[in-house]
Amino acid sequence: MPYDVIIVGAGLGGLTSGALLARAGRKVLVIEKSNSVGGAASSYKVGDLFVEGSLHETGDPHDPRDPKHLPLSRAGILETLKWSPGGALYEVRGGPLSSPLLVPDDFDGAREALSARFPEAREAIARLLCEMKQIASAAGALTQGDAATRRSGDIYGALMSIAPAIRDWKMPLAKKLQQAFGDNEALKCAFAANLCYYHDDPATLWWVYFAMAQGGLLLSGGRYVHGGSQRLSSALAREIKKAGGETILRRVVTAIDKDGETFRVHHTAKDGSDPKTAESVRVVCNGAPASIAALLPPKQAKPFLSPYESRPSSISLFALTLGLSKPPREFGFSAYSTQLLPDWMTTLADYAQATTLMRDEPGEKMPPLAIADYAAIDSGVPAPPYVLSLIAPDTLSNWEGLDHEGYRAKRARWQSAIVAHLDRHFPGLAESVVASSFNTAHSVRQYLGSPGGAVYGFAPTPPRSLFSGAKRTSATPLQGLYLASAYAGFGGYSGVIQAAGECADMILRES
Ligand SMILES: Cc1cc2nc3c(=O)[nH]c(=O)nc-3n(C[C@H](O)[C@H](O)[C@H](O)COP(=O)(O)OP(=O)(O)OC[C@H]3O[C@@H](n4cnc5c(N)ncnc54)[C@H](O)[C@@H]3O)c2cc1C
Repeated sequence: MPYDVIIVGAGLGGLTSGALLARAGRKVLVIEKSNSVGGAASSYKVGDLFVEGSLHETGDPHDPRDPKHLPLSRAGILETLKWSPGGALYEVRGGPLSSPLLVPDDFDGAREALSARFPEAREAIARLLCEMKQIASAAGALTQGDAATRRSGDIYGALMSIAPAIRDWKMPLAKKLQQAFGDNEALKCAFAANLCYYHDDPATLWWVYFAMAQGGLLLSGGRYVHGGSQRLSSALAREIKKAGGETILRRVVTAIDKDGETFRVHHTAKDGSDPKTAESVRVVCNGAPASIAALLPPKQAKPFLSPYESRPSSISLFALTLGLSKPPREFGFSAYSTQLLPDWMTTLADYAQATTLMRDEPGEKMPPLAIADYAAIDSGVPAPPYVLSLIAPDTLSNWEGLDHEGYRAKRARWQSAIVAHLDRHFPGLAESVVASSFNTAHSVRQYLGSPGGAVYGFAPTPPRSLFSGAKRTSATPLQGLYLASAYAGFGGYSGVIQAAGECADMILRES
């Protein structure tokens, strides 16, 4: 058997598990259909314009409570990359807020800033942030892998610290914020202005997940990978190679079948030519269960899919990258991360309307925008042009029924409308746009192959029962086939890297 493990896909999930397995002495083959490694965690150039494919913000992996800490340390790359601080969680503008508010990326700073703006809710703000800190810290302690499982005292402490949260365990964010802040919609919007980092609807976003993820950013501070997310992906790929593993690019996995204990992974060149087969007793898939099922024989696909059938996919995002001739601060940007809420958004619940706006032609309603100004920090992003990345919820159905030209034309009309909207808030910006790149849910679907263009795996909706919230695993019903992707844990850099670390550990324990 030439390989101990074959990994399908070189996104963060495939690369992290590949690096950990290769460094543990396993012979690893990674098969990736694109021209380069990274999947969503890629950055590249379009002409002069630097395009960051995904990353706005993630927690600091140097903090031992960050879920990426252990996997990236063990993959040997924690110290090889620079993680640039974002300086604040975000500045939130517009919507029901009368003026911009800067929310720092630490618990004390966030409490002070929010309390100063909303003194009437000082106690409620402190209580909620305290609860988020307990949940995020406990999640951090519980994700310290095998090392921590041995420290039963720590686990007991972590569980006890979240005991008060058990009461609200199944609550969606909207209900939790209503309970805490009543009808103070400006405060709710200030608290969760970056909602699209997780989901698009506070009524269906699991409160505990929000507490873990937003709380994680407030525990360690937000970070950007200096030089772009490609550096992270390439560093992981280098570790695979250094440890004797192999990564092949521009090869599409077209089918996986199992004969006894052995998996046969069939792959071809992108045009379908040059078919080859690789064999192994273990296969790790860096994708969605639905995409993997399509590769399996029907008899195996059905039982394979059964645990995932009731789970909805996460949201998709559009990402508009603008190259400006002048630094964004000259037009009034004052933070690395700006959450620009539209005027029609008077409640946090309104955020849910954003996802389908692009189904129609651009009109009065613009989406809430999460904006990263890479020139505002030591990001290592080349300039000029100065790069602004704008993301917001999107869905594949917004772009359905259009031919290629129709799609491009509609996307261009939306781009013009969004730039005009930005110009109203940051006068002079429109004239300075010298380059652009616009990826939609349709692009995500096309390049990454995720169902519906989902970017965060399964939707982080509230669990049905107290314990089902934790039921996310790399194990699948097909013995020897594992998941290392956003679908094995939670989405986003932290969730994927953590899930891939757990996947590698599972394989190492079994073999
Ligand atoms: C616009 C945008 C902004 C984002 N912003 C953030 C952020 O600020 N912070 C954050 O934490 N997260 C962010 N995310 C989410 C994060 O990038 C993803 O959750 C994460 O990178 C997903 O990693 P993955 O390994 O699960 O999957 P993917 O990145 O989708 O990787 C899957 C890989 O498998 C390959 N593949 C699929 N099928 C095959 C096949 N048949 N054969 C061979 N190869 C195959 C694909 O080409 C791809 O390389 C963002 C995502 C997007 C799109």
